[in-house]
Formats: sequence, C-alpha cells, structure tokens
Amino acid sequence: AGEAARFVAVGAGQAALACAEALRAQGFTGAITLLGDEPWGPYHRPPLSKAWLAGELGAEQLAMRAPALLAKKGITLRTGTTVQAIDRAAREVLLAGGERLPYDGLLLATGATPRRLPLPGGDAPNVLPLRTRAEADALAAGLARCAELNLPLVVIGGGFIGLEVAATARKKGLAVTVLEAAPRLLGRVLAPVLSDWFAQLHRQHGVALHLGAQIEALETDADGLARAVHLKDGTRLPCALVVLGVGVGANDALASACGLPTERGIVVDACGRTADPAIVAAGDCAARRLPDGSLLRLESVQNATEQGKSAAAALLGQDRPFTATPWFWSDQYDKKLQMAGLSTGADAWAVRGELTGEAGFSVWHFRAGRLIAVDAVNHAKDHLLSRKLLEAGVSPTPEQVVDLGCDLAARLQA
Ligand code: FAD
Repeated sequence: AGEAARFVAVGAGQAALACAEALRAQGFTGAITLLGDEPWGPYHRPPLSKAWLAGELGAEQLAMRAPALLAKKGITLRTGTTVQAIDRAAREVLLAGGERLPYDGLLLATGATPRRLPLPGGDAPNVLPLRTRAEADALAAGLARCAELNLPLVVIGGGFIGLEVAATARKKGLAVTVLEAAPRLLGRVLAPVLSDWFAQLHRQHGVALHLGAQIEALETDADGLARAVHLKDGTRLPCALVVLGVGVGANDALASACGLPTERGIVVDACGRTADPAIVAAGDCAARRLPDGSLLRLESVQNATEQGKSAAAALLGQDRPFTATPWFWSDQYDKKLQMAGLSTGADAWAVRGELTGEAGFSVWHFRAGRLIAVDAVNHAKDHLLSRKLLEAGVSPTPEQVVDLGCDLAARLQA
C-alpha cells in the first residue's frame, strides 16, 4: 500500500468512488485511477427515474463529486474509457484502443445491464431501458414525444424502476399503462398487503395497471417504431414509447473471461475479495457468498457503497466484512418506501399503523417467528427503528407490532 502502488477501478460509479475514497481515507498514497466507459464521472443513478427524469435536477446535483474535488483527493478519472480485458498474470488491464495499464490492486465495479425483451419488436428504437444518464435523457425525450402525440407510455415490468418511471410520467400528465407479468406488484420483495397498496396507489393516480399480463408481441410501424403492445388475451395497447423495467444482469463478463469465478455475478466473500488476491469486486456486479453457501447479489446504493469500502480495506490487507442490514428506498408520487432487511422466505406479516391514514405505516416481515425485514411507507421513524432492531437481532412479536401502544424502541434496551 505504499506510494508506488497503483490502484485501478473498472467502472466509475457508486462502488468505485466509495472504494477510491476509502483507500485515501485509510492513508493509501499510491496512484488511484477510475476507468469508466460513460462520458461522465460518478453520478447518482436513483434520480434517473425520479427528479432527473422529471427535469427537476441539474447536472451538478446529479454528479457525486465535482472534478476539482476528485483531483484534490488525487483520484484520476478517465471517462469514455472501456476496459476490454484483464491480464491477471501481467497484472494489467487492456483498454479499447490497445493501451495496457498496470495495477497492483484492481476493483471490478462494472454494475449491471438491463435485460431486453426477447419478443418481436422488442428491440425497436422507442423501447428503452433505464440504467444510464444517456438512457434517462433518451427517455425524457420520449416522454415529451408521448405528450406531443397524445399517446400513452407503456411500462413493461412493475418493479421499482418501472413504477418510479410511471409515477414521474403521471406527474407530467401523460397516459401510462403498466404491465406486470406476476399476479402482484413487487411480489418478490413486498408483502401481499403492500403489493396491493401500491397497485391501488398507481390506479388512484390514473395508471392503467395490468397484472398477470402476458405480452405476445410489440407492433411496429413502417419506421420500425413500436406503436402498440399486444397481450396474449387479445388486448392491444397503443403507445408512443415503451420503457423496459424487467431487471438487470450483472456485468461479470470481464471477470469470467480472465478465469475468476462468476455465478450471476462476480463471486466475492464478505470483504469483497475474489479468488485473485489482487482483485476485489463491489456493487451490482458482485455476488456475495453467504455463510450458508448461497449467493446474495443486491442492487442498491448502500450495498455498492459498503462493499466498495470493504473492498478498499481488503486491498490494504484488512478485514472489514460488509454484513450490515441491507436497506433500500423508492419514491413514487408523494410516497417514500424505505425497506430494511431481506424479506425472502417471510411466512407472516404484521402492519403497524393505518394503511389509509396520513401518518404513514410499516409492514413487518417474520420468518419462523423472527423479524427479518420491515418496509415503511412515509414513516422514517419506523424505518430507522427497524434497522436498529434488525441490527441488534431483537425481534418483537407480530402482536406487539400491531399494537401502536407498544413501545418497540424500549425492546432495544431490554
Ligand atoms: P454503477 O453505478 O452502474 O457503475 C458501474 C459503471 O461501470 C457504469 O458506469 C458502467 O458503464 C461502467 N462499466 C461497465 N463495464 C465497464 C468496462 N468494461 N469498462 C469501463 N467501464 C465499465 N438504489 C437505491 O438504493 N435506491 C434507489 O432509489 C435506486 N433507484 C435507482 C433508479 C435507477 C433508474 C437505477 C438505474 C438504479 C437505482 N438504484 C437505486 C440502484 C443503484 O443506483 C445501484 O445499485 C448503484 O448505482 C450500483 O453501483 P455500482 O457502482 O455497482 O454500478
């Protein structure tokens, strides 16, 4: 970790920045270079489906660090730079254009790529994914076109990104149709009661929501543009624009090409280490091996930031496992959903507060009688409390959760 050491990151996003800054904070004095294939330095992705898409945020606010600040920290940023291969034997990365860059420590923070639709018309130019600032800008232009033509936006996929785009488009007054293949929204993460609540929220805001929707094909016009979505039940849904929110795949091809283990992501331990001691990985591209042998790949700001910090520590020869309770948020209309813990495998739920009230509420997930996750809607207090409870391994009972007179915070002291 001396002055001669060279740290290189592939990707210049959330995880790469967190790792680079943590290295400096830990006293690393060597060279730090972030290689990113986008035209911009590290920027916040969450606003891309929210305030940025709505046109309510400037480029300076989207950026994570001003260029001057990066320079001050001695972090070299190379934008528009694609890494094509990793030569592990020589400890070099190969850039598009042929340049070779040596490293002593390498971070893979390549993020993820939205899935496309393997359907007729699925690759039409007005069928857009949303991951990058460039894609958000194309989407914003598409929304303007919907307004001009007075034609709806069709969102394929009722996940977080799809629903946030739907809410933003409704705020702009556009007609919006959301198609979800599953019988309920966000079915893999939310309790049924909250899925139903979100469905009602979007319908109340005028979204035409189709659950259990099976898409047959996208109808294209003479210019090759999608003009309608056909469902298998014969429904034809006209549109000027289609947004795809059907999930992402980890960008792990560079890793697998140089022989690192990958399995729906670059396999890492709790400290971000890959099978090569000189290479760490963090963020959406990384799949963490859990003590029970299963793999956990999360797509969240917290995960990218914390894994980035763990990866920095690992490169400096320290153990800083990222095992904190996962948290996530989503903004739709005037509602803020804040999630803590992982709800997979929940077998019971309890609601604290009124689903219909102004005060907000929270949904508590239990597995075999133990608290595993809490989803709070417009209720920051329950969110913060639940993170503390989960962190401490303290589990209230479902009966205590529904009883608003029960002081759950007191259980932390007990
Ligand atoms: P990224 O930030 O994607 O950075 C990876 C970078 O690497 C990209 O710029 C990519 O182009 C580049 N790259 C890939 N391959 C190469 C290569 N070979 N050479 C050079 N560069 C390469 N999370 C939340 O917690 N809350 C939210 O509300 C939320 N909302 C979101 C809304 C949207 C629209 C999106 C897209 C994401 C949202 N997320 C949210 C998720 C969060 O933004 C991501 O989990 C986080 O950005 C992941 O960081 P990362 O560093 O792993 O990847």
